[in-house]
Amino acid sequence: MGVHDVIKNITWLGHDGFLIKADGKAIVIDPFQLKECDPADIILITHEHYDHCSPEDVNKIRKNSTVIVTEADSAKKLSGDVRVVGPGDELTVSEIPIEAVPAYNTNKKFHPKQNGWLGFIVTADGSRIYHAGDTDLIPEMGTLNVDIALLPVSGTYVMTAEEAVEAARIIKPKVAIPMHYGAIVGSAQDARRFGEALRGTCDVVLLG
Ligand code: ZN
Ligand code: ZN
Repeated sequence: MGVHDVIKNITWLGHDGFLIKADGKAIVIDPFQLKECDPADIILITHEHYDHCSPEDVNKIRKNSTVIVTEADSAKKLSGDVRVVGPGDELTVSEIPIEAVPAYNTNKKFHPKQNGWLGFIVTADGSRIYHAGDTDLIPEMGTLNVDIALLPVSGTYVMTAEEAVEAARIIKPKVAIPMHYGAIVGSAQDARRFGEALRGTCDVVLLG
């Protein structure tokens, strides 16, 4: 399956939330203020901030069999089958390979590196999908080797659109998708600036 076919099966749920349907599974990342969403087989949560780790939203989409993968701070707020991971850990859940990768700030204090908060790389229908979490441009991005990159563009707590453009130039995905706008911080204008600046570098898809 090509990257653009995989993207057809990715739904933006707002802010940093995504539903990825792949290999017969529903994978949801950072559900927040959900309106409609399918039940999830796997829920990935990047860190404990309320707009990423929302037990209320997790409960809307969980089944008895749902597996949650997250870091230690979020795990304290959640129940059920919760697998705690740290940056660099890899695991396979329901035959979906998942890698936990670092996400942290370099020029602000909201997401300290020592917290061990996360981004994720999910391999779905043969494509490696990177959800960056709440992060700045960090050196680890240079080694990710991903096909699709979901990158925050709002500034304030995470990269600005301009910093996210630099990140995309380093990560070199086939397709970049802006996120972390339209809810708490960041606007559609940030997403459009991100897309315009990357014209000629990589495809940018706005799911909003
Ligand atoms: Zn955060
Ligand atoms: Zn955030």
